[in-house]
Amino acid sequence: MISDALEGMKLFKLFAAKWNWKMEKADITIIGAGVVGLAIAAELARPDWSVFILEKNPAHGGGISSRNSEVLHAGIYYPEGSLKARLCVAGNPMLYEIAARNSIPCKKTGKLIVATNSGKIEAIEKLCENGRGNGAESLSLISKRQMTQMEPHVQAVAALYSPETGIIDTHALMNYFLKQAQSNKASLVCRIKVLRIEKETNGWQIFSENDRGEAFDFLSGVVINAAGLSSDIIANMVCGHYHLHYCKGDYCGISGVKPGLVGRLIYPAPAKDSAGLGVHLTIDLNGRLRLGPDATYIDRVEDYTVVSEKAALFYEQARIFLPFLKPENVYPDMAGIRPKLQGPNDAFHDFVIREDAPGFINLVGIESPGLTASPAIARFVQKMI
Ligand SMILES: Cc1cc2nc3c(=O)[nH]c(=O)nc-3n(C[C@H](O)[C@H](O)[C@H](O)COP(=O)(O)OP(=O)(O)OC[C@H]3O[C@@H](n4cnc5c(N)ncnc54)[C@H](O)[C@@H]3O)c2cc1C
Repeated sequence: MISDALEGMKLFKLFAAKWNWKMEKADITIIGAGVVGLAIAAELARPDWSVFILEKNPAHGGGISSRNSEVLHAGIYYPEGSLKARLCVAGNPMLYEIAARNSIPCKKTGKLIVATNSGKIEAIEKLCENGRGNGAESLSLISKRQMTQMEPHVQAVAALYSPETGIIDTHALMNYFLKQAQSNKASLVCRIKVLRIEKETNGWQIFSENDRGEAFDFLSGVVINAAGLSSDIIANMVCGHYHLHYCKGDYCGISGVKPGLVGRLIYPAPAKDSAGLGVHLTIDLNGRLRLGPDATYIDRVEDYTVVSEKAALFYEQARIFLPFLKPENVYPDMAGIRPKLQGPNDAFHDFVIREDAPGFINLVGIESPGLTASPAIARFVQKMI
C-alpha cells in the first residue's frame, strides 16, 4: 500500500505540473483516508472525474479506523430517526454483502446484551424496542435458559439477542474501498497535510504541504472533509463552529482462556448516561477475546497508552457476566479515541454530514457506528453531490 501512496504522490505531481493547479482544478478532494473517506471515494470515483484523497499519514487507514472493535453493529442503541441509527441499519447488510463478494474476512457472530440481575431487564427490553424501531433485524429477548444454552460460560438472568451483529477485517475493507476508487481513477496522496482552505469563485483553494514542508496548493470544485479526529479543525477553516471532544476507549486482552469458550459478542446492559456501551467482550477474526473499550474524556492529545491498572478495573466489571475470568487472564492492550461532538455532560449528538457551504461537505463526529455505517454514509454523501 506504500507503493500506492507513492504512485498517488507521483500522479499528484504530474497533474500539478501538467495542469498548473492555480488555473485548473480537481473535481473532488476528500480529506482523510480512513474507512469513511475511502468508502466515499469508492462511491464517487468515475473515470471522467479527478478525485483526490489526501492523507497526512504515510499510508491510508492509520487513524480511528485502525483502533476500534471492528464490530458490525445492528443499530440497537441510537435514537430512532437519527443518522447514526439509519446509516448503521443500512450499512450493516451492505457490508456483509461487500465482504461476501470480495472475500473480506467477516463473521456474523451475533451478540448478546446481558441483564446481570433482574433490575437490568427493563433496560434490555427498552433497547429491544428501540432497536426494532430503528429497523434492526431479528432482535429477540431470551430467557436465562435460552441464553445458557447459547453461551454456557456467560452469567446473566436474561439477554437481548442480536443475530445480525458481527465482526469484519477493517483493513481488508479499507483496501477494498481504495482499490474500487483507484479502479475508477481516483488517487490517494499520502503524507499531505491540509493546512488551510479558502473560498474562490469556482471552488475551494486547498493549501497543503508534504512532510518535507513542500507546498501543494490547488483548486477543487468539491471538498469532502472526512478527517476524523481533525474534522472540526478542517470544517472550521471554512465555517467555524464545531468542537470535538476526544473520548478515549481502552482495551484489555484476555489470555490463558480455553479457545472457543464464548462464541458471541457479550455486552452488559448499558449504564445510564455512560459515554460508551460499558466494558464488553469482543472476539476478533482469529478468535482472540478482548475486553473494552471503556470511555474516558481526555485532553486533545492522541495518547494511546493503556495504564496497567486498567486490567484490574476491567476484570472487576467483566467478571460479573464472565465468571470464568481470573485476574491474571486480563492484560492492558490497545486504545482508540472517539471524535465526540457531545461533551461529558451533554445529551446524544448525531453524526454531522452536512454541506456547510456550497460544494463543501463536512463529516464531523463520526464515532461509532462509523465503521458499520461507512458504505451508507458514502451513499448519503453521493446523493448530496
Ligand atoms: C474505541 C473505538 C471503538 C469503535 N468501535 C467501532 C465498532 O466496533 N463498530 C463501528 O461501526 N464503529 C466503531 N468505531 C467508530 C469507527 O472506528 C469510526 O467511526 C471510523 O473509523 C471513523 O473513520 P474516519 O474515516 O471518519 O476517521 P479516520 O479513520 O480517523 O480517518 C481520518 C483520516 O484523516 C486524516 N487527516 C486528519 N487531518 C488531516 C489533514 N489535515 N490533512 C490530511 N489528512 C488528515 C487522518 O490521518 C486519518 O487517517 C469505534 C471507534 C473507537 C474510537
